[in-house]
Amino acid sequence: MTRTLISNGLVVDPAQGIHRRIDVLVVDGRIADLRAGIPAEQADETIDAEGLVVAPGFVDLHVHLREPGGEGSETIASGTRAAARGGFTTIFAMPNTNPVCDSQTGVAYLLSRAATEGAVKVVPIAAVTIGQKGEELTNLGTLKSVGVGAFSDDGRPIMNAQIMRRALEYTRMLEMPIFEHCEDMDLSGEGVMHEGLMSLRLGLRGIPRVSESIMVARNVALAAATGGHVHICHVSTRESVEAIREGKRNGVRVTAEVSPHHLTLTDDAVADYNTHAKMKPPLCAEEDRLALVAALEDGTIDCIATDHAPHSVTAKNDVFDAAPFGVIGMESAFPVLYTEFVRPGRWSLDFLIDRLTIGPARVVNRPLGTIRPDSPADIALLQLDAEYRFDESCLGSKSRNCPWLGRSMAARVAATIVEGRVVWRNEACFGGAKTPTRKRGGKKS
Ligand SMILES: [Zn+2]
Repeated sequence: MTRTLISNGLVVDPAQGIHRRIDVLVVDGRIADLRAGIPAEQADETIDAEGLVVAPGFVDLHVHLREPGGEGSETIASGTRAAARGGFTTIFAMPNTNPVCDSQTGVAYLLSRAATEGAVKVVPIAAVTIGQKGEELTNLGTLKSVGVGAFSDDGRPIMNAQIMRRALEYTRMLEMPIFEHCEDMDLSGEGVMHEGLMSLRLGLRGIPRVSESIMVARNVALAAATGGHVHICHVSTRESVEAIREGKRNGVRVTAEVSPHHLTLTDDAVADYNTHAKMKPPLCAEEDRLALVAALEDGTIDCIATDHAPHSVTAKNDVFDAAPFGVIGMESAFPVLYTEFVRPGRWSLDFLIDRLTIGPARVVNRPLGTIRPDSPADIALLQLDAEYRFDESCLGSKSRNCPWLGRSMAARVAATIVEGRVVWRNEACFGGAKTPTRKRGGKKS
């Protein structure tokens, strides 16, 4: 039996309404006790969390691990390392690998690789249609039985409304969500960024805002017609927010996520043809960004998901038109959102943690995102009073396509614990990092 005591930290677990300085006792990978003054003798080892926040490990519903087929950009090992760096203890892996994860074999491969190579827990998402071609449904029932957490053709939309309708009918029976990348491919055409003044100025082809919202509206309508659960990925525009809000008001089973980059950046970031600001859906206008923030605040958008999308340095160094869409996001998510929203006082720390933990857990209806007694000891230790430059040394990913490299941040992940095991630890955050003469607290794990 292994007994670890996490002592003296400020425990923040929004699912339980806890925001108190208490100790956490972990026995054999599960939370055994949560209260003040647990004697150190009850544990074999102690992690001194003095000055740190003890939160449930974050849950990311939207991650591209690239393995198999894209190991040059990311692997299951490097992608889960990025997750651990970011405080994420469970990540949902999108199926747009090569080959596409659309069969039992694909799911088994991912699960076995994650079990041997993964730093954190990986939940496979299987494709809705075979090869993500949008034509023929995969064997949804079988895929559910082998452990997938959701279905998605992300990377692209399901353009055929009849296929989407059938998929929602089946998944309703299975009580599983479809994670949908909402984009009308005809409207997007050859667009590479948000269609607006900036695209005009830069002479780049634009993606009209309606490209997303028309599909959000369609999918909300199909969810209403079928009773199925559609989860809208990476919402980016004000009109999409309105369609989701209206759907929720009418009792439709629609949930939604927003990415850190859509919450903090606009198409201004593209100004110097910065390919680290090229993603789908594209960064939109300030009014869209503000609508997303408000929607996350009022619960129209349920959670934050990173859409971690690694691409090699060579690919991203190409000219803007040719560079691939997407940015990495797990390592930077908590630091950037804390710095942008919590430190200036717009959000409470509890709110941000809620939207990274129990928020996503509710979308997939899984017992994640909380550290109640007897749940797995999946924990993120956070340091809030940090001031540092976020650079490449902060990344765990194989790729470098992070839009926040070089900026100064006000918080960081001090350690990440998965089922009681420390999978990431930043020594600088422990025991007197600020006064190096003081003796180091806490045992190494
Ligand atoms: Zn997508």
